Amino acid sequence: MNPGPATGRGVNVSALALTGAGALLVAVLAVLVLSPDQGPPASDPAAAARVIAERFTPHELSEADSYRSWARAIGIASLLVQFGTLAFLAFWRGRPMRRLLERLGRHPLRGALLAGAGISLLLSLAGLPIDLAAWKLGRDFGLVSQALGPRLLDWLLATLIAIIPAAIGALIAMAMWRRLKGKFWIFASILVAAWAVIVTWLWPVVVSPLFNDFERLPDGPERSEVIRLADRAGVEVGEVYEVDASRRSSTLNAYVNGIGSSKRVVIYDNSIRELDSAEFSALVAHELGHVKANDLVRGLAFALLVIPLGVLFVQFASGSALRRNHDDFNGPALIPVLALMVTLTAFVLQVPGNALSRNVEAKADRFALSLTGEPEGLVDLQVGLAKSNLSDVDPPAVWQFLFGTHPSTIDRIAIAEGSRSEG
Ligand SMILES: [Zn+2]
Repeated sequence: MNPGPATGRGVNVSALALTGAGALLVAVLAVLVLSPDQGPPASDPAAAARVIAERFTPHELSEADSYRSWARAIGIASLLVQFGTLAFLAFWRGRPMRRLLERLGRHPLRGALLAGAGISLLLSLAGLPIDLAAWKLGRDFGLVSQALGPRLLDWLLATLIAIIPAAIGALIAMAMWRRLKGKFWIFASILVAAWAVIVTWLWPVVVSPLFNDFERLPDGPERSEVIRLADRAGVEVGEVYEVDASRRSSTLNAYVNGIGSSKRVVIYDNSIRELDSAEFSALVAHELGHVKANDLVRGLAFALLVIPLGVLFVQFASGSALRRNHDDFNGPALIPVLALMVTLTAFVLQVPGNALSRNVEAKADRFALSLTGEPEGLVDLQVGLAKSNLSDVDPPAVWQFLFGTHPSTIDRIAIAEGSRSEG
């Protein structure tokens, strides 16, 4: 109610800017500290350009370019819808919204629970057309095998699953905001950090099996190769699973996730069927590189380093927005404002996070080269992956900077070619 000078949890603009800049600086420093030392081989971009020209037809390149242009447009639309919806809820104070907030404010905690669930549901509904556009695009280009019905069922399941943590998160945030006042960020940071650990640890065991069937990879040449490479790399992999990814898409992939006893290598069934043995070895060796370098812990460490200042920024920005709106400082208007600021902050901090991810991925490629000693396997794998996923082999630099979690195809081939020229 009081737009006057900053008091209590009100924050002036310079404190807000300083915290934001500080959070970004910590994230950049964390990337520098946590990025693995790349070591040899140096990359050979000229050789990579030759490989691309030899192995891809102009038609393949233009098909991928067309698919990726559409996919990027859909990605941008998705961001706009998400941020637009959240900004609308955070700042629009037309009569229906004021009435709704007043109603929810009668029981602030229950109000926050409902607001959290409502926002989650609304975001999911607003995103449905975009989800369908992405599905249609994938179908048109032969990347998605899933029919509309199952896809909608997946969307429904994902929507319902998302509501629960959103509602509980909103309830907890509200309770902490009301009780802890200026110390909100300290306890919120601890909770967010705990959540990051839990997700890393429990997601593969609890949530992933809801969407796919995971089966122990049966004895055979593939399993033996995984065990042989893991032995040579000197890493413990836990169990090796095959996942029925082909139910949804033709994507070729594998990953390692979980920590401690939930650690596992998961291989897409497509990869087992479609890769030759050198490609399969390169894929598995790359994943073992992640295990060897403790990359899950690196990712987690990045999160733990950036969370405190990130959450402090969210607290300051949310306080400023509530003040600007003349909202009840302790009412449910907090929830949409908080949702917007959290999403915005996470989006910005993800950019340095992606830089760390690209460094980690490049290192895993270099590890795979040293483990298998077969650059051809990695080159074939990258060419095959790019073709089957219709990847942009050399995406726009800005896009790669903002969203690229892996080095581009051409950069990955350049690493493999570099090891060839080093003999
Ligand atoms: Zn990787």
